[in-house]
Amino acid sequence: MPHVVLLGGDGIGPEIIAQAERVLDQVNTAFSLGLTTERCLIGGAAIDAHGSPLPDSTLAAASNADAVLLGAVGGPQWDALPMSERPEKGLLQIRSGLNLFANLRPALLYPELASASTLKPEVVSGLDLLIVRELIGGIYFGEPRGIEGAPGQRVGFNTDRYTEAEIERIGRIAFEAAMTRSRRLCSVDKANVLEVTVLWRDVMERLSADYPDVELSHMYVDNAAMQLVRAPKQFDVMVTGNLFGDILSDAAAMLTGSIGMLPSASMNSDHQGLYEPCHGSAPDIAGQDQANPLATILSVAMMLTHSLKAPKAAQAIESAVQTVLASGVRTADIASGSAGEQVVGCQAMGDAVVNALR
Ligand code: NAD
Repeated sequence: MPHVVLLGGDGIGPEIIAQAERVLDQVNTAFSLGLTTERCLIGGAAIDAHGSPLPDSTLAAASNADAVLLGAVGGPQWDALPMSERPEKGLLQIRSGLNLFANLRPALLYPELASASTLKPEVVSGLDLLIVRELIGGIYFGEPRGIEGAPGQRVGFNTDRYTEAEIERIGRIAFEAAMTRSRRLCSVDKANVLEVTVLWRDVMERLSADYPDVELSHMYVDNAAMQLVRAPKQFDVMVTGNLFGDILSDAAAMLTGSIGMLPSASMNSDHQGLYEPCHGSAPDIAGQDQANPLATILSVAMMLTHSLKAPKAAQAIESAVQTVLASGVRTADIASGSAGEQVVGCQAMGDAVVNALR
């Protein structure tokens, strides 16, 4: 039976996870998914209860689960702790503990929210792209690295390094994601300058033989950055290494203009994944029923697609969110003040999505 671990975390985390859990329960029943769930502690809540931001029991439960759904961690009450003991450490530990090498970040802009973007509505309206970023390799981890030499003559250096196996495993995640969407994959590299990305391109080409239904293209990263802000709707799935992915995924996310709407996934080679909103624990609005739960609810949809192989349930959630937005229901962060909008709290937004699913 598929099993999901729910980690509320801190600040608005438990509030948004509560609404996401209601949505998950609804599709679990409607689509007879047979899912079981379990709540565990992470972050500041785990520090307070067990003295550790990632208790062994939480890591063990997460390791045995098919997927993990996380709210957010952190808050001012833990900011005085040493870096190695802070809530955010729990997040880094669970990512490395589960070997989550693939980061999936969609940039999805519902037409109703087009005015929230800094780009012209016609450029971004209906935008729906997915960036697949390699998360635990490349220049952020390559050796040798360091700063050496005498003052005034120091040299700083890093190593951009990928093995064929590392490229292949992220490539397969991207091709498989493309198979669930419109079957177009753009691999981003700098193969005109960097050998590491010549290898990257070679491996992507080789893999494409295994996915004949996916149309593979290649783009240099400088052009990709330009195209993302010029005509982002030309892309469906993009795949790239750690450094380029870090930069491009933030740029793509901000095309949508609203942090409360953005889900994400980090996955390992068993399709086990950690799903979470891109935003933090928002201590400024915690406990006030003001948080937008939609990024977390959309993270549930990603979890159903990528880890639980229930794409119909995922599509039902995405359609329900669209229906709710089309009806004018808004949390404060996505309200534009125009006529026809009804501004609601976190719980009422959860109610609206659950009702739209019925
Ligand atoms: P934040 O994302 O928590 O908040 C930034 C702003 O966006 C705030 O004004 C907040 O009210 C608003 N906001 C965020 N999510 C929202 C939502 N769902 N609905 C409505 N408004 C929302 O970033 P921050 O203020 O820099 O960090 C706060 C805490 O969160 C810190 O302790 C930080 O370390 C932690 N953090 C955790 C994660 C994570 O758990 N993945 C990520 C980023 C930051």
